[in-house]
Amino acid sequence: TRLANQIAAGEVVERPASVIKELLENALDAGATQIDIQVEEGGTRLIQIRDNGGGIDRDDLPLALARHATSKISTLEDLDAVATLGFRGEALASIASVSRLTMTSSTDDSGVGWSVHTEGRDMEPVLSAASHPRGTTVAVRDLFFNTPARRKFLRTVNTELGHLEEVVRRLCLFNFQVGFRLTHNGTLRWQFRPAPDEAEQRRRISTLCGQAFMDAATPLLVETHGLSLGGWLGSPSVARGQADMQYFYVNGRVVRDKVVTHAIRSAYSDVLAHGRHPAYVLFFELDPAAVDVNVHPTKHEVRFRDQRVVHEFLARTIHRALAGLKTVALTP
Ligand code: ADP
Ligand code: MG
Repeated sequence: TRLANQIAAGEVVERPASVIKELLENALDAGATQIDIQVEEGGTRLIQIRDNGGGIDRDDLPLALARHATSKISTLEDLDAVATLGFRGEALASIASVSRLTMTSSTDDSGVGWSVHTEGRDMEPVLSAASHPRGTTVAVRDLFFNTPARRKFLRTVNTELGHLEEVVRRLCLFNFQVGFRLTHNGTLRWQFRPAPDEAEQRRRISTLCGQAFMDAATPLLVETHGLSLGGWLGSPSVARGQADMQYFYVNGRVVRDKVVTHAIRSAYSDVLAHGRHPAYVLFFELDPAAVDVNVHPTKHEVRFRDQRVVHEFLARTIHRALAGLKTVALTP
């Protein structure tokens, strides 16, 4: 299993940003409505996520850090299988194998919970009683303390913090029902209340994407033929020299996709200066059966069943919204 741990750890845990992505997704899966993130030294010294979700039972705590499917990997053929199937249920085990990890949790309001601690890959989890409100806190300390080769690839604190904030930004932009708080080295960076209404959502986007973007953005919500597109289109006046302010969610996951990018570009083509890139935050929903998101578990790729229909819907809807028209006709 040593091989399995190292392979899986390399796959999931590339840098502090990949740790925070997995921990935040777990907190959201647990139904949290408030998530507090504390980071020290760009996440290399500490990443701590506290949520108020459903929590984990005493008996399940050590299991959450245990490896499942990949413990069977012993040959290169097995590796191939893993590469195609992905590492489901392995994230915490992978993170635990390259850090000092403490997970404390409670499933009720008694204030009483349990805690597990591990240091590196060869240690069995140690269980102890702990006090904790309903929910879970995961603290990841000294990332890559036992893998110097990996530690060498870490960049400056500011670079790692930038990657990490980008992960948090992407999740904050979609999960409006959840409150978030992020501190770095004890300094508050972001604090968002749950944002069920549009005014609070605008405030959150304004903080995350800049007021210039939000102030000139065109809101959009169109549903037709089982396809739905909502969000905000940046004005051509905030078009950028780089394609760095483009958030496109497919059924809740940020993706980068050629069909999508091309459709949006073509919708903006009349109004955009040459070499400029549109800014947008868009939420696209469609039948999960009409899209394959399992191209790669840690990459942001999708494959649409019918690319032509998706392209036409996006291009037309966005073109019309930019032109100030509300309705969209789609040829079946
Ligand atoms: P996966 O999320 O793919 O199941 P993980 O290694 O990320 O795998 O997590 C393992 C398990 O630990 C989860 O399936 C879940 O049962 C539990 N878990 C992890 N984090 C939390 C959390 N914040 N709250 C409740 N349960 C959690
Ligand atoms: Mg997970």
